[in-house]
Amino acid sequence: MTSQRTRQRLVERLMDQGVTNHQVLDVMGDTPRHIFLDEALSHRAYEDTSLPIGYGQTLSQPYIVARMTEVLIGAAGKLERVLEVGTGSGYQTSVLAQLVPQVYSVERIKPLQDKARERLRKIGLRNVELKHADGGFGWPERGPFDGILSTAAPREVPPELLQQLAPDGVLVIPVGGVTQELRLIIRDGDSDNFVTQVLEPVKFVPLLSGVTR
Ligand code: SAH
Repeated sequence: MTSQRTRQRLVERLMDQGVTNHQVLDVMGDTPRHIFLDEALSHRAYEDTSLPIGYGQTLSQPYIVARMTEVLIGAAGKLERVLEVGTGSGYQTSVLAQLVPQVYSVERIKPLQDKARERLRKIGLRNVELKHADGGFGWPERGPFDGILSTAAPREVPPELLQQLAPDGVLVIPVGGVTQELRLIIRDGDSDNFVTQVLEPVKFVPLLSGVTR
């Protein structure tokens, strides 16, 4: 269940679904997704489906983790500092941390953040800084970011996230309510112009405001 062979099958499925970035495929083939789930669910870790992580939240489907990461990497020039909104289980965080030098991740539910911190420590990723806060406001003290990836969907793109993009910075974010679309938004140089591309329909948990202990 947790073997290299099982993860290789996941990688093959991702390729069948159109994921082409080899760095992303390699990292997903190497990352133990089962440790980001509670034990009762860990046997389903390599199915291509989203899975519950408690508190009404979900670990995203592997395809969407791969796709968002691939889009972020493909669209960004330099990618040294990345902000993730919605740490959740920490799985997407760990994929990012193996591809970029410094990852910052914000989560509003404290117990989820605590578990994610423990898991990231367990697999030895040290280039991640976590914060318990409402990520709709980004993380101004750590910005600007070359890339921002949101794993929760706001109704509208929070202006704070746009403001915290570095020149030519890239935001990958699901937007909407009952129906949602994945958007790729790129800052045009150091201007306040942003170019938006709509990528595909998606289904994420909502970006909620405030924090819970
Ligand atoms: N990246 C996660 C996906 C978790 S689901 C993973 O790989 O497991 C999205 C997460 O976003 C949830 O944990 C939810 O609590 C969090 N979230 C929702 N609104 C948020 C906000 N305003 N600030 C920070 N985190 C938020």
